[in-house]
Amino acid sequence: MGVVVQKYGGSSVADVTKLRRVADRVIRTKQAGHDVVVVVSAMGDTTDELLGLAKQVSTSPDRRELDMLLSAGERISMALLSMALRELGGDAISFTGSQSGIITNDRHVDARIVEVRPFRVQDELARGRIVVVAGYQGVSYRREVTTLGRGGSDTTAVALAAALGAEWCEICSDVDGVYSADPRVVETPRRISSLSYEETQEMAESGAKVLNAQAVEFAKEQGIAIYARATASALPGADPSADGTVVRKLPPRMPGTVVGIASESDLLLLRASGQGLRLLAFLDDHHVAGKQLHVLTGQGGGDDQVSLVVSRENLHDEDRVRAQLATTFGERATLIDGFGAVSAIGAGINMSYDNLRAGTRALEAAGLSTYDIATSSFRITWFVERTRLNDATRALHAAFIESQTPPVP
Ligand code: ADP
Ligand code: ASP
Ligand code: MG
Repeated sequence: MGVVVQKYGGSSVADVTKLRRVADRVIRTKQAGHDVVVVVSAMGDTTDELLGLAKQVSTSPDRRELDMLLSAGERISMALLSMALRELGGDAISFTGSQSGIITNDRHVDARIVEVRPFRVQDELARGRIVVVAGYQGVSYRREVTTLGRGGSDTTAVALAAALGAEWCEICSDVDGVYSADPRVVETPRRISSLSYEETQEMAESGAKVLNAQAVEFAKEQGIAIYARATASALPGADPSADGTVVRKLPPRMPGTVVGIASESDLLLLRASGQGLRLLAFLDDHHVAGKQLHVLTGQGGGDDQVSLVVSRENLHDEDRVRAQLATTFGERATLIDGFGAVSAIGAGINMSYDNLRAGTRALEAAGLSTYDIATSSFRITWFVERTRLNDATRALHAAFIESQTPPVP
């Protein structure tokens, strides 16, 4: 049997009792005859707590120093899990991202993996050891410690699975798979037993936290199947769809079928006129990642108009960016706060405007006004007031998912 990569999220390693449960599950996987690589997140809310500490020291903390700080969270879990495995009689060794050969670009705080050189991991597996890897981190080609953006331990797991030619990659969390909406928001979400890479990527990019978008992109490129499961679940049996969600290449569904609703609350809308590429250069210089870029070039007369959405998730120096934006562009560029985005996801969702009209009607019926609507071939996104985001999610879930018979398999 070959290599299995298992990733355990923050809630699964939140305290020592939970760490021991994870250790037990890892040992059972090893005893079933697999070579096991375990990727761990920081314990519980450690990453948020470390960020909180940084913000107490500086309102716009330096990105390199943030990486030095945040990467410590996963190092605590890796060492403790390795000790717990040894207590249970396992032969385990822990490695940081750098020691595992996770090479990234030099974009601090949301670095991308560019290469994996897992020689030390392979050597230890060959010695029969269980290898525990600190997720969410790597080392740049300049030999600086980097982190991969929030939720980045999933990406570590998939990248290692690809580099090791793993049999499968399990993402274990507090929820037993990907649901049609966040189970914390919607009362009767449906578990989706299999999802395509594209559907999952759109769900993740639209805010469904359960799987990280970059991880899914990696899995798609390398053709790796991802199994999203509850940490408390049994080890995978012969039928991988019996529980959890498997993400893999799938035959297409009936076009236009909505598979899920996802939402993102921490967004800023950036609008500028007459600045064109200069604004985009500013964003690159300040490492601000935007999405949903829309440019009206002004060819028809008048100034160009740029609008884009900035996710706050990896924007830890907002104060500095705001100040420099004001200094550079004055009133020609504004950051608008106070709204969130809710999206319906499904292949071919915009073949006609039926879905867009149905969703807009459902939101209106729930008393919600829409600031903006954006579409792609897999997604319709409505921008609504942040305080009403959960209501919007519930309204769209009722309109698109609860009304479906039979449910999406
Ligand atoms: P971990 O710490 O294990 O990485 P996360 O908190 O990143 O876990 O992701 C799991 C959480 O994602 C769940 O607790 C759930 O509330 C949330 N979530 C959001 N959207 C979905 C969805 N569509 N399906 C399942 N869980 C979701
Ligand atoms: N600990 C990091 C975070 O909270 C990475 C992860 O959990 O995947 O975002
Ligand atoms: Mg996560």
